[in-house]
Order: sequence, then C-alpha cells, then structure tokens
Amino acid sequence: MTETDPYQREREEMVECQIRARGVRDEGVLAAMRKIPRHLFVPKGCERAAYEDRPLPIGEGQTISQPYIVAVMTEQLDLAPQDRVLEVGTGSGYQAALLAELAGTVISIERLRGVAERARENLARAGVTGVRVVVGDGTKGYPPEAPYNAIIVTAASPAVPEPLIDQLAEGGRLIAPIGPRDCQDLVKLVRRRDGVETIPLGGVCFVPLIGQFGWRGEGFL
Ligand code: SAH
Repeated sequence: MTETDPYQREREEMVECQIRARGVRDEGVLAAMRKIPRHLFVPKGCERAAYEDRPLPIGEGQTISQPYIVAVMTEQLDLAPQDRVLEVGTGSGYQAALLAELAGTVISIERLRGVAERARENLARAGVTGVRVVVGDGTKGYPPEAPYNAIIVTAASPAVPEPLIDQLAEGGRLIAPIGPRDCQDLVKLVRRRDGVETIPLGGVCFVPLIGQFGWRGEGFL
C-alpha cells in the first residue's frame, strides 16, 4: 500500500473502538478497513481527522461518511469475491476502495466530474486498482455492467430509484438511505425469485442523491 504509513495505529484503533465495539463482526470488512489508508481519501491537511468518529467534508458540499456507517453498509452487502458491485456516489473513493477489497468487479458512479477525478487520484495514490469510476447520473444505475450482486447508494433519496432495483441480480442486495432531505432510514433490499424483500436498518443522515430518479437539482445545486 504506502511505503510509510504513519496512521496504522489510528486505523487499528478506529476499527476496534468505533467499529468492532459497536457490533460489526465481518472479519473481511474489518480487515479491509484496517488496510485501506482512509487518510489518503480526505482533503490535504485533514489527514489526522480521517480516523475520527464522524463524516468529513471533501469539497463541493460533499462528505466522506463516518467510518462506522461505512462498515455497517459494507457488512450488510454480504460480498463474495466474485461479486459485481455498483456504488452510486463515489465521493472520495474510500467506500469504493473497501468494496474492491471484498468483491470482484466494482463500478462506482459519480455525478460531479471534479469529485470523480479526485476520487480516481485518491484511489491511485492508495494503490487501489480494482475500481472503475464513471461520471454520470447514478439514479439510472449503470446498465452496461448490470446485473449487479450488490448495489450501495451513498447519497439519500426519497425512494429507492427504480432502475437500481431492475439492475439487481437474483439474490442481489441493495443498501440505500431513504427518506426526507435531512435524515433518512438505511434500508436493505434483497431481490428474491418471487419479489423484493425490504429490511430497515436504522437512522442515518446523508447528502442528497440528485438525479432523474432521486431529488431534482433545484435547491441543492
Ligand atoms: N461513498 C463516498 C461518500 C459519498 S458522498 C465516500 O466513500 O467518500 C455522496 C456522493 O454522491 C457525492 O459525491 C455526490 O456528488 C454524489 N451524488 C449525488 N447524486 C448523485 C447521482 N445521481 N449519481 C452519482 N453520484 C451522485
């Protein structure tokens, strides 16, 4: 990963005190979070804050999510090494880097070109090669690579965008924050042969998902 990693101890503490202590048990998720250098995904000068128990601003009004929330969402995806995963909302690229540790194919789609470019740089600096960052409206999913075994949406919308449900493989899992603009419920959808099961996972606060099947741009841009 990085030649010298001055934050390894902070990262181990983050995993033990913020994540394992709160009930995340998936050893693959914990190992990935111990490995990926989160400080390379925050703006320059904020490296020390990267391992604190909170989200951080990454520019253009967007945030890198709190480590614990990232861990819960990743654990709930139940990833297997051959899985194809779509992330909607690349942001810093940190979540995508974790997904690449746990799954076979990772496509991450970001609406803002500048944010996407920075995410590509962050991923390269961290030595992560298994993520394809695409610029576009992720509320429409990404049909060329569908269907997906897992879809993770890291921005909030009033309802789960219909195209994402359509692009979920049988047995596929989708995690998304759903609800009003300020605070939402994290929900998990599982596509079964005979329908889609919905499981609520608790309250969260995410930045808005802006696009054709999310919030419309007005008032958010
Ligand atoms: N997963 C990120 C955090 C995401 S913040 C991380 O690990 O850092 C939410 C991101 O979703 C923002 O960058 C925002 O620009 C993006 N976004 C909002 N609406 C979107 C849309 N319709 N399609 C793709 N990305 C979108």
